[in-house]
Amino acid sequence: MDSYRYMGLRKQLAELLATKGIKDAGVMAAIQKVPRHAFIDTQFDQYAYQDMAFKIGAGQTISQPFTVAFQTELLQATKGMKVLEIGTGSGYQTSVLMELGLKVFSVERQRMLYDRVKVLLPKLGYAPKLFFGDGFAGKPAFAPFDRILVTCGAPFVPEALLEQLRPGGMLVIPVGEGDVQEMLRITRREDGSTQTESFGEFRFVPMLPERSNDI
Ligand code: SAH
Repeated sequence: MDSYRYMGLRKQLAELLATKGIKDAGVMAAIQKVPRHAFIDTQFDQYAYQDMAFKIGAGQTISQPFTVAFQTELLQATKGMKVLEIGTGSGYQTSVLMELGLKVFSVERQRMLYDRVKVLLPKLGYAPKLFFGDGFAGKPAFAPFDRILVTCGAPFVPEALLEQLRPGGMLVIPVGEGDVQEMLRITRREDGSTQTESFGEFRFVPMLPERSNDI
């Protein structure tokens, strides 16, 4: 259940994110709308609107709001665009993308998380296309995408994801093999070549390999 208290906390969170450099008005509005408390266990309620990531079971991490806002801002997505998200996790980032009026396709590698989000998001009024599968492969049947957002730490840039970008499309992906990843934005040009920009270091849970014992 949402409440005025939660709404107030979200407003404060958005203000905090602004002091940390988030500028995009659409992203700010989305952060103020998505009920982050609904994505976490009630025992962690008090942390719901603090700017922190935390683990909430089954290897699941709900990303830090700043990271969600930062990645979303990097996407420069406009209403109606087709966006592929890799790593549905809690579904929080997915919901932020939905609030921006995007057509969202999201892939999760862990069955338990996929099952949970599949029930939760419709209850919150969001209807993205959710898939259980391997993000390294992208979602070729629904390609090309205007934007692709990876929310787990990728050891390298998966070729399949670049191939599924439409010309002019962008891939936002944290890349790095260790604990720390570099946030990259890769734009695919009309001629198929790419341009890469870097936006500093972040920490994500690792992108799981195709065959993993964790599943
Ligand atoms: N966007 C999420 C972040 C979750 S953490 C949120 O807002 O809560 C990253 C998620 O990526 C985890 O749920 C993890 O299971 C998932 N993941 C890891 N490797 C993956 C892969 N190869 N394909 C798809 N999802 C993957």
